[in-house]
Amino acid sequence: MYKQIELSYNYNALEPHIDELTMITHYTKHHATYTNNLNAAVEKLPKLSGKPIEEVFIRLPEISDTALKTAITNNGGGFYNHNLYFSTLSPKGGGKPDGKLAGQIKKDFVDFNSLKEKLSATATATFGSGWAWLSANKNGDLKISSTSNQNNPIMESLGKWIPILGIDVWEHAYYLKYKNVRADYIKALFEVIDWKEVANNYSKVINK
Ligand code: MN
Repeated sequence: MYKQIELSYNYNALEPHIDELTMITHYTKHHATYTNNLNAAVEKLPKLSGKPIEEVFIRLPEISDTALKTAITNNGGGFYNHNLYFSTLSPKGGGKPDGKLAGQIKKDFVDFNSLKEKLSATATATFGSGWAWLSANKNGDLKISSTSNQNNPIMESLGKWIPILGIDVWEHAYYLKYKNVRADYIKALFEVIDWKEVANNYSKVINK
C-alpha cells in the first residue's frame, strides 16, 4: 500500500508564499486521490504490487493493458511527485544549498542564481500541466528538465535520472492565490524550498 508522506509542517505554515487553502486542497484532495487511485490500479497487477514505486516506473513498459498502464503512470506519478514536492518544502526553507550539492551546482550551472533562473524559466515555460525538475544521476551530474502531466524523469529515463526537487506547475498548485501568474508562484516557492532536504535527496542518489 502506497502512502502519502506526512507533512512535517502545518497547512498554513508556508504562508504567505503558499496559502493554506491551496495546501489543504492539494494534499488532502489531489495528492490523496492520486494515491488512492494508484493503490486501486496496482492491486490488479500482482507482479508489481508492493514494489517500490521507482521500480514500478522503470517497469511500466512491461504493462500490456494500456488502460492500466495509463492509470499507473498518471496516479503513480501523482503519488510520487507530490511526496517529493511536499517533502522539499518547509517554513524554514529558502536560501541556498551547501555541501556537495552546492559544489555540483557550481560545476553544472556556474552558480546558484543561474540554477535558480534556469529552473524558474523551465517551470514558467512548461506548457499546460506538468512539472519542472532538478534531477541527478548516479555519477552526481545535475540536470534541469520538464515533463507533462504527472510524468517524471524516472519514467522518462527508465531510472537513469532521479529527481531531487520537483516544481509542480499544475494550476491546482497556485491558482487560488496566484491566478494565471505562474511566475509569481514560482518566485514565492523558492522562499520555502528546503535545500537541506534537496541535498539529502542528492546524497541518496549518488550513494546508491
Ligand atoms: Mn499537484
